[in-house]
Amino acid sequence: MTPEEFRRLGHQIVDWVADYRERAASLPVMSRVAPGDIKAQLPASPPQSPEGFDAVLRDLDQVIVRGLSHWQHPRFFGYFPSNGELSSVLGDYLSTGLGVLGLSWQSSPALTEVEEVVTDWMRQMVGLSDAWSGVIQDTASSCTLVALICARERSSGFSLASRGLQGEAVPLVVYVSAHSHSSVEKAALLAGFGRANIHVVPTDAKYAMQPGALAQAVRDDLTAGRRPCAVVATCGTTATTAFDPLESIAAVAAEHGLWMHVDAAMAGSAMILPECRPLWAGIERADSLVMNPHKWLGVAFDCSLYYVRDPQHLVRVMSTNPSYLQSAVDSRVKNLRDWGIPLGRRFRALKLWCLIREQGVEGLQRRLRRDLDNARWLEVQVRGEPHWRVLAPVALQTLCVRHEPPGLEGEALDRHTLSWAERVNTSGEAYVTPAVLDGRWMVRLSVGSLTTEREHVAALWDLLRAEATRT
Ligand SMILES: *Cc1c(COP(=O)(O)O)cnc(C)c1O
Repeated sequence: MTPEEFRRLGHQIVDWVADYRERAASLPVMSRVAPGDIKAQLPASPPQSPEGFDAVLRDLDQVIVRGLSHWQHPRFFGYFPSNGELSSVLGDYLSTGLGVLGLSWQSSPALTEVEEVVTDWMRQMVGLSDAWSGVIQDTASSCTLVALICARERSSGFSLASRGLQGEAVPLVVYVSAHSHSSVEKAALLAGFGRANIHVVPTDAKYAMQPGALAQAVRDDLTAGRRPCAVVATCGTTATTAFDPLESIAAVAAEHGLWMHVDAAMAGSAMILPECRPLWAGIERADSLVMNPHKWLGVAFDCSLYYVRDPQHLVRVMSTNPSYLQSAVDSRVKNLRDWGIPLGRRFRALKLWCLIREQGVEGLQRRLRRDLDNARWLEVQVRGEPHWRVLAPVALQTLCVRHEPPGLEGEALDRHTLSWAERVNTSGEAYVTPAVLDGRWMVRLSVGSLTTEREHVAALWDLLRAEATRT
């Protein structure tokens, strides 16, 4: 494709995306295709001769859109908001169009330095001290894996330089809670701890980790001859947006030399609001922290921020230095390949930079406050309605609700919950996520898509009541 053809088609594609965003509200939120429907409409083998781009655009309209659940829809209340604010979409286009790679500082100096600037902007925006340094990774899953590898290497005195975990005399233990994200368990397994050494700490009535139980678990493991290594605390758990008490967890971590990693993938965005920061009091005592601007904040997926207090340790664990990547300026620059797992990195900083510059911190704060207000409004409606319950504290913008008609309990109640949630989703009018809490099905309502206003939340509430009482 020549730059001239690209110019013509690129305009069409930008128009297409702009139209898509404008008409998103009129599409069924959840895709109604059945497994295999999309594949059945696509040729099984590649075209031998060029097809022309018009054919691609036609398939986009006729095949692909039907096979999408629309995350940017104003009545998307599923999973979590993954907002691709259009300013960040432009940043993402730019990054792809430039086609530069960060292998080392020298391979694209601006790529590294914009990333340094913008991760430091975000640090300031969420109120962290300047003791923290950040880097952009693809996802929270990768950041948590890096954190647990760094923890492992600190506790084992750099076992990777000799016999690895296989040379350790006693097993290293990681502490998580029953409400930690599945990526935490996966990271612990991939980092080589082994399932037997993942210690699940009980949670309290608000689904937050009990620090007393953590302290007890650490003592038990020490008595049994195991070596406590790391604790992962969560700010904004997946099911209920619970906040583990960082201050008390940090006290246990400090007493026993545990690495403390904080998974704030969802709730980190909220910390651009000073009024939310008491929720993560104690954050300064952690060793590492992940948050996902690609969720509520509005950076087009993917953009995950990893912050550490001791970058030297991170670099010592992650660095490799083949001759073809060395340069004369290495002692004066950051080589971000040494801050995580992949060698090549995209210019992801651009989309975060574009978002912050185009919206301003105030613009971002205003939108998040709007969503918090909408969630509180919905909470009041649900609590005020007979036979409806809000099952967990609404710390931010996620509600866990259940309709409990008189006489329905146990599995019958589960069947009722799953069937009205299914009716809501297949109606195409809204998208919600059923999940299990305390062994019973409930429905999560995650408020905070870019275009979700009060009227959409009100429409959701009407729909929930209609579908839950339909017979
Ligand atoms: C979304 C989420 C994750 C996983 O995020 P990825 O970036 O998709 O890996 C982990 N932890 C929490 C608390 C989350 O909300």
